[in-house]
Amino acid sequence: MAGVTFKNISKVFGKDVRAVDNLNLEIKDQEFMVLVGPSGCGKTTALRMVAGLEEATDGDILIGDVRVNDVPPKDRDIAMVFQNYALYPHMNVYDNIAFGLRLRELRSFFWQISHMGEAKKIKADIDARVKEVARMLDIEKYLARRPKELSGGQRQRVALARAIVRKPKVFLMDEPLSNLDAKLRVQTRAELIRLHRSLGITTVYVTHDQVEAMTMGQRIAIMKDGVLQQCDIPETVYNLPANKFVAGFIGSPPMNFLDAEIVRDGASAFIDVGDFRLPIPATHPAAAYVGKKVTLGIRPEAILDKALESHVKAEAGNTISAKVDVLEPLGPEYVAYLGAGKHNMIATIDTGTKIKEGQTAEFVVDLERIHVFDNETEQAIR
Ligand code: ATP
Repeated sequence: MAGVTFKNISKVFGKDVRAVDNLNLEIKDQEFMVLVGPSGCGKTTALRMVAGLEEATDGDILIGDVRVNDVPPKDRDIAMVFQNYALYPHMNVYDNIAFGLRLRELRSFFWQISHMGEAKKIKADIDARVKEVARMLDIEKYLARRPKELSGGQRQRVALARAIVRKPKVFLMDEPLSNLDAKLRVQTRAELIRLHRSLGITTVYVTHDQVEAMTMGQRIAIMKDGVLQQCDIPETVYNLPANKFVAGFIGSPPMNFLDAEIVRDGASAFIDVGDFRLPIPATHPAAAYVGKKVTLGIRPEAILDKALESHVKAEAGNTISAKVDVLEPLGPEYVAYLGAGKHNMIATIDTGTKIKEGQTAEFVVDLERIHVFDNETEQAIR
């Protein structure tokens, strides 16, 4: 097994489409890394360069310690699973899974003919491997069926089985779940994670879905316009986003962004949005931005119903008043659309709330969890 390294990798299509821009990323051996970002950010191109389906314009790609830029795809020991899993329609499930293994053995085909005993052993090995992965993915009972006789989810599992059966060094997956309905996607997500835990094969997984990224990735790499924005474990990306883009992309409902200014009042510094202001500790680096325009970021769950018990104590400085325009029941919580003066915000509120739509109520902002972004660089100030 092996890790994957992007070293100063760029890919330029035509004259000026810079699909990937100086990507530096080290995916560790046995790691499950998710590349995530909006459509067109370059994640598929990055993956295709690892597969050898796209040539890097600049930089080095390593699988393990080996530079693979000039290694043909078939010799890279990778397996890919795509959104369009492209099973062979004329073959049954068994043959679809066995196909790659047989192909590998094809090299010794003539040798096999002249050594029938060995050929039988290879056939038995392939049979054992096919049945093992079929069992692992719970598709044993479909082995004799053709792809058209399977549901989307079953087909996807066959595609996974076909990739797994070869025991590659690296798995590359490009939106492999996007053809599945919501329930099946959640289920297959969990199956994939379990599979990774048991096989320990280095996996690079591409998705545009931040929930998928957060739930599946041991680390996630967020890209925008070909540029890597941040790469870290999900908790860090969520709690300490490096910049405004990452802060807005990760999290649902998204982080609230409010135009603000850092002001000083006596010895204290505040982040002032006009309709309200929140104190910031004198030691916070944002306190050095006095007089400058910044963006205040507050996650919906950092705005709490003051009337409910919580770990955050209401104080004069952290309490705001807002009108609840809409209260959307989401099952475990409400999504509240708030208006505080000219500012609209979203809060997720415990279902124990007594607040009703149309009411004006008091909310507590968890000051430990506010974010401040530099308006020029869009980087987090912390
Ligand atoms: P999506 O989620 O929509 O698949 P992505 O993040 O995977 O998007 P890429 O497919 O890697 O993005 O594309 C990155 C950029 O490179 C886009 O601007 C795309 O239009 C461009 N691009 C990709 N392939 C080619 C190509 N073969 N020729 C020219 N431009 C391309």
